[in-house]
Amino acid sequence: MAYDLLIKNGRIIDGSGRPAYHGDVAVAGGKIVEVGRLSGSARQTIEADGRAIAPGFVDNHCHYDAQVVWDPLCTYSCHHGSTTVIIGNCSLALAPVKAEAREKLAGMLSYVEAIPMDVLQAGVPWNWESFPQYMNAIGQRLGVNVGTLVGHSAVRLYAMGEECSDRAATDAELEVMRRLVRESIDAGALGLSITRNMNHFDIAGKRIPAACAPESELFALADVLREAGTGVIQCGGGTNPELKDRLLSRISEACGRPIMYNTLLEQARQPGRWREHLRHVEETAKQGIRAIPLCNPGSILNRFTMKNCQVFRSMPTWLPILQGPDAEKMRAYRNPEIRAKLRAEVDAPLGPDSTFSQRWDLMVVEEPKLAKNRGLAGKHIAEIAKAQGKHPVDAFLDLAVEEALETGFCLGEINMDTEAVAQILGSPYAVVGLTDGGAHVQFHSNVSNPTRLLGYWVREKKIMSLERAVQRLTFDSASAFGIYDRGLVQPGMVADLVVFDPDTVAPRKEDVVHDFPANGWRMRELAEGIHYTVVNGEVLLEKGEHTGAHPGRVLRNARYHASRNGGA
Ligand SMILES: [Zn+2]
Repeated sequence: MAYDLLIKNGRIIDGSGRPAYHGDVAVAGGKIVEVGRLSGSARQTIEADGRAIAPGFVDNHCHYDAQVVWDPLCTYSCHHGSTTVIIGNCSLALAPVKAEAREKLAGMLSYVEAIPMDVLQAGVPWNWESFPQYMNAIGQRLGVNVGTLVGHSAVRLYAMGEECSDRAATDAELEVMRRLVRESIDAGALGLSITRNMNHFDIAGKRIPAACAPESELFALADVLREAGTGVIQCGGGTNPELKDRLLSRISEACGRPIMYNTLLEQARQPGRWREHLRHVEETAKQGIRAIPLCNPGSILNRFTMKNCQVFRSMPTWLPILQGPDAEKMRAYRNPEIRAKLRAEVDAPLGPDSTFSQRWDLMVVEEPKLAKNRGLAGKHIAEIAKAQGKHPVDAFLDLAVEEALETGFCLGEINMDTEAVAQILGSPYAVVGLTDGGAHVQFHSNVSNPTRLLGYWVREKKIMSLERAVQRLTFDSASAFGIYDRGLVQPGMVADLVVFDPDTVAPRKEDVVHDFPANGWRMRELAEGIHYTVVNGEVLLEKGEHTGAHPGRVLRNARYHASRNGGA
């Protein structure tokens, strides 16, 4: 038989967790047709040369909702071996939207996910209103596959207009929301996204609409998925309500659909909490309930200046200053009375929604601006404060003010305890993912999660086998999100594949590129050791370079496929 694509002499890691084996993978009509020692001819042959051939990775938590419009490859997920990205998370989306509400909706994505507003204004054409229209618009030209979730904040804004963050919905408005979710699921959306993250605000400083919805509304929207008999739910900020009174378990039980929520992680803000969380999800799973936390292999490093900082936003005096204009920030940070309040709030006991751990030893001065401060580079605030005999807040703000808010800081307070991370990533009760690709474009996105898992955690730290790590990145994620035809290398599956070198795979050091609309800049993170990324049977990237192909498509839920195939 003549194949379209034949990948020869690989070490096949099929995504099931079973041991790797040597062989070839043959592709025809966009699907894997045979695996083993194969001799047929092919239009294109790739020599894997003993490297790993795995299913393409599924980047299950992204915010490429705007970027996908001007960057159909959704860089840089694909450079790390991802062939599918899932967007519309945490209740945020760019549809459905009425013309007069575009700015407000874009503002939520901009402020929560730290994507500059002028980039969105220049880059988003808004040639859609409904969610199905948005799906069709982005589907015109895609490098990778994109699965979509319909976002509760967008739906609530559409149904309630300007009052969407102020009050409960009327029965009529709730019916509109249910209709919008239904039409999205009917069009093939993979599910619905909601949020309980109370630290997510829009550009005017108001909590985003989905965070303002009462619990009864979440159940009413989830019930649309029960009626449809398909789809998943994703919840931003789910850990607190789940551990408090099992909110997500109850939603999942009520609608019979899986719910994936953020986030199971080790963080300095809440030492030891990850153990409690792991025990909880094991208990939930043993009851047969699918309320599943996402976890990730990244040690999130938050790079920021005090011009654009989200670290202290859980504190009432800090928040409006952080959101105000720079001149106002300078005035406030210089004011001794305000300073006293800022110190008191930072020193107050940590609450469940605290956004800062008080661990000044984890906050490093990365890039001082003035020559006289160069010696501070690489030092953390705790040691600087001690040397200067000041409170850390004063050492920190004095420096920021002296340098006109331009000092570059770096805070790493998440996933720093390797033993904890090893247990979390190995847990069968959690799904690995959560790169936040497309978000915090000027900080750090964790888009390198797959290559970090394979390079750092597997090769260097040996916390799990390569086969298990590939399973975590592929089959586990695809099946959790209802993508049933991808995530395994076996005949009949769609040919999303990655060829990588287990001996060299790793993220590269980040740099800055100016490739966003309106000459916007962002951090770029590429990878070592990813040789080919194949999407729907076509090579998308060869050694990190785009081949020019656009083989991606919008992924649709299982019920959509079944109805297209004659209602099986
Ligand atoms: Zn998110």
